Amino acid sequence: MTSDESNRVIMTFGLRNIIGIHRLHTGHKDYSVLKAYTHWSCWQRKAFDYIIWCHLAHALEFSVAIVCWLWLFPRTFSDANEWRFQWVSRVVLFNLTCEFVFYSFWHWITHARTSVYAQGPLHEKKFNPSNAYEDKQHNHLQREIFFNTLGWLQSSAIQCIFMWLWASGRLPYYSDFWSRPVFSMTILLGITYWREFHFYWVHRFMHPWWSVQNGLRDGDIGAFLYRHAHSLHHLSRNPGPWAGLSMHPLEHFFYYSCAYFPLLFTCHPLHFLYAKFHADISPIGGHDGHADPAGGSAFHYLHHAIFECNYGTELVDFDSLFGTYREFVRKPARAEFNQEKTHDS
Ligand SMILES: [Zn+2]
Ligand SMILES: [Zn+2]
Repeated sequence: MTSDESNRVIMTFGLRNIIGIHRLHTGHKDYSVLKAYTHWSCWQRKAFDYIIWCHLAHALEFSVAIVCWLWLFPRTFSDANEWRFQWVSRVVLFNLTCEFVFYSFWHWITHARTSVYAQGPLHEKKFNPSNAYEDKQHNHLQREIFFNTLGWLQSSAIQCIFMWLWASGRLPYYSDFWSRPVFSMTILLGITYWREFHFYWVHRFMHPWWSVQNGLRDGDIGAFLYRHAHSLHHLSRNPGPWAGLSMHPLEHFFYYSCAYFPLLFTCHPLHFLYAKFHADISPIGGHDGHADPAGGSAFHYLHHAIFECNYGTELVDFDSLFGTYREFVRKPARAEFNQEKTHDS
């Protein structure tokens, strides 16, 4: 939302993006759905981003959480006080269906050879014009789908564990969301900001803690974690949607710890589900490698292209604070696409 190229709020795709891509494809010059936004002052845009847009950008994740609570829970929760194959398999199936529907759909829109959109004007919006999924030698798609699925399986397991803890009375929860309206809404809206805060620190934690100018230092915990876990995510130098959760299981463990807060205080299952599906689905847009009207995250694209910058997001903007913010500049920075830079070699 900050410019045509850069969207630094972690976001997934929504109707706004689908309509925008269709308009772009059908030749609308003004394809943006939120036309008024570009005419607002800087402070108006900031206020809109921080108070309204940051939540609306996650309508898809919230909708999935609602469906899970209203449709899946009534079919599984009464059995969840004991470990049984039937309810566990339903939870896992629900999650894997979400994964393949949402990730495949966005992959098709933005990268598929068979997609009229990917092969049309949207291609001009791609930060790196080449399609990494056509590189048969490295099999990026196969690797990303495999590790992405491991991520969804881990988050499904976390969901099953919380359901079992709640249903068996081992962990308190409340089931009437509106019985505590102020608390319920504060926690729900707070999750949007919490996710961005948590993402920055977990991510920064897995990059070298000290300067890498002279290589990776011995005893640098961040360098150790980068080498043995996070480097797998960075195999996607030119990412697409499936790169979003293509992580080492240890990184999945740190990443999904954003949804462990029901261990600290009594909350509604919807709070947990929103945080969990936010973590599952929001990386799609951030990794699709295209400017607006697709995901628009030049910010995170640049992190994949040149590593030691843009660790977080705009809402909780630690990158500007710690001097690691880099702006994506399309033409002069073209050399960055091909810059061969790795930590280990
Ligand atoms: Zn990274
Ligand atoms: Zn990434």
